Amino acid sequence: MRTIALHGGTPIRSEKFPPYYPGANLMGKEEAEASAGIALSQSPFRYYGVDMKYKVRQFEDMFTEVSAARFSLAVTSGTAALMVSLKALRIGYGDKVAVPACTFIATAAVVIAAGAVPVFVDVDESLNMDPLDLHTKLSEDDEIRAVIAVHILGYPCDMDGIMKVACHYQVPVIEDVAQSCGTTYKGRFCGTIGDIGAFSFQMNKLITCGEGGAVVTNDPDIFERAVRYHDHGGFRDKERYGIDSECVFAFAGQNYRMSEFAGAVMVEQLKKLETIISRMRAHHDRIVNGLAQALPGLTLRKLYDPAGAAGCSVAVVLDSAALASTFIKALNAENINAMPLYDARPLYHNEIFQQRKSVEKNGFPFCYPFKHPLDYSNVLCPRAEHLAPRMVFIPITSVIPDHEIEPIIEGIISVYHAIHTGK
Ligand SMILES: *Cc1c(COP(=O)(O)O)cnc(C)c1O
Repeated sequence: MRTIALHGGTPIRSEKFPPYYPGANLMGKEEAEASAGIALSQSPFRYYGVDMKYKVRQFEDMFTEVSAARFSLAVTSGTAALMVSLKALRIGYGDKVAVPACTFIATAAVVIAAGAVPVFVDVDESLNMDPLDLHTKLSEDDEIRAVIAVHILGYPCDMDGIMKVACHYQVPVIEDVAQSCGTTYKGRFCGTIGDIGAFSFQMNKLITCGEGGAVVTNDPDIFERAVRYHDHGGFRDKERYGIDSECVFAFAGQNYRMSEFAGAVMVEQLKKLETIISRMRAHHDRIVNGLAQALPGLTLRKLYDPAGAAGCSVAVVLDSAALASTFIKALNAENINAMPLYDARPLYHNEIFQQRKSVEKNGFPFCYPFKHPLDYSNVLCPRAEHLAPRMVFIPITSVIPDHEIEPIIEGIISVYHAIHTGK
């Protein structure tokens, strides 16, 4: 056995991992020409201009086709996509929204910005929302009016389980697909299984224009409210969708419209999505299979649909938090990127929730006289508590060459042996 780098050996990789920008890593002349085309057309706004390229519209049509959803709407960010989703479902003051205990802070913070409050649901072995705990939370609290299921780092949630529970309680489901654009679950594009799906195209996501987002849905009423909320309450291009708009009245909206620059870049990035996913998926499968063969005792993050992972991460579960942090240090010493997920703890530990810190006066929106009072200090999601500190993520990008995968597998195996035997 080789001496691992943490113990003074030569790192198995001589160079650092490429930075984790799966979409941006493949940006090039296509995106450059597309954005230059918008500047030259002097028409950067999606709805009118002097020489329209209709790039946002083109992107939406492509996204509708790729996702097989009925409707797509481009917006300014993943957070905007979640906000538009919540408002399209009429979520606001006096409502609670179920979110998973382990997710990026935006998933829960946007609920507060929408005027509602998050209720944390435990995770299962996939580190995504646990349908059984969702069932418990919904049965205990009829003030929960929506669920946000988050597909963390390319692994789909147990959507059959989540949809079954949500349907039973007649609570709509938002899928947060910010980290997982292109992930599928039983052949369906994640984001199209629940009532509405929210995507991010920020720099770290699988395709990107720096800042951007989208929502997809099959429901015309939800879609019309999404469009109106994102465009000051108005609904342009009605004829494009064939929606009879009398059924939903207008209301006070916001502006989350995507610019033509972002749209032009997203058209080019979306063309690359299949390449990005197929490369990452191939790397992911080789690493997972290699590890499973060499280390039968190793616990890998549970994957509900092995054919559907986007492949942008491999995650392993160590026996203790101490072993996990040594594992991370040792892998980084081999120039193999590894990290815990978000502070290695459930999100409700964050002081924003512990101390109910919104930007508003008088404790809004936490001040609502709920029947079932909120108390984040008593929140306990035992599996999240137990798993989050022991879970180690290895990010996979689209630009790792094939020949570098074998040394990565070997590196992980030797580090795993070394930290367990102390040699
Ligand atoms: C990135 C992310 C968001 C927010 O997306 P932005 O485009 O940065 O606003 C929301 N949820 C999850 C899970 C994310 O990873």
